[in-house]
Amino acid sequence: MTAKVALVTGGGSGIGRAISHRLAADGYATAVLDLNAASAKTVVEEILENGYTAAAFGDVDVSDRSQVDAAVESVRDSLGAVSVLVNNAGITGFKKFGHITDEVWERTLAINLSGPFYACQAVVPDMTKAGWGRIVNISSSSAQGGQQFMTHYVASKAGLVGFTKSLALELGPSGITVNTIPPGFVDTPMLRGSERDGLLGGSVDEHADRTPVRRAGKPEDIAAACSFLCSEEAGYITGQIIGVNGGRNT
Ligand code: NAP
Repeated sequence: MTAKVALVTGGGSGIGRAISHRLAADGYATAVLDLNAASAKTVVEEILENGYTAAAFGDVDVSDRSQVDAAVESVRDSLGAVSVLVNNAGITGFKKFGHITDEVWERTLAINLSGPFYACQAVVPDMTKAGWGRIVNISSSSAQGGQQFMTHYVASKAGLVGFTKSLALELGPSGITVNTIPPGFVDTPMLRGSERDGLLGGSVDEHADRTPVRRAGKPEDIAAACSFLCSEEAGYITGQIIGVNGGRNT
């Protein structure tokens, strides 16, 4: 039997890297797509060393529909039609509301919200044809409670939550589930970058001490939830927000 194909955007780093590893270990031929070609290639080399199947698709900006379409076409040619899509690529941002420029606002929405829109439109026809598909959108716990100085970021992620719920209703009859995982405080290069820039209001360790489970999240925590949502067993779960945040948001 040919392996099903999973496509992970932003698969070269942090949460996307862990999801790529996990889905490959679950038996999916995994397409690791990233703007950063070197990191996508490294993740694929790691997966291949572990004896699983993967291919890198680097230099792809998810905010550009033509690049997304071309990448999905390459995935089809090299691995096969996509059965699982994880929209994980994203950028963060901290700015006082009055300092958010049009450019920053539009770039944030283009990557965090239009990116998933383009990727879904590119893969849904194949999933519909197969009568089976799994889409997982990585949003953010900040969209559950709001976050000061992140209006643009939170708006993009809250948009992704609404996008998930609506698309789930439309695609359910086609055998396709659509869910979102809003991570909270996961130890990745993105989080450490924010810590370095003094934007967290304390260190990662200080925040971990205030988190109910008393630790920061690991990328593998998100990957485990994602693996389940992509499984056969999760076929009755759709349109849901599955928080993975150590109890920081309930
Ligand atoms: P990360 O370590 O920065 O990884 C993000 C990956 O996405 C990077 O490889 C990045 O490439 C890539 N990327 C950025 N812009 C892209 C674009 N336009 N097209 C394609 N790829 C692009 O971040 P992370 O912490 O793993 O975050 C992953 C997702 O989880 C994001 O959507 C983030 O908003 C969400 N999230 C994370 C946390 C957390 O605590 N870490 C919390 C809530 C939500 P470059 O290396 O070139 O930048």
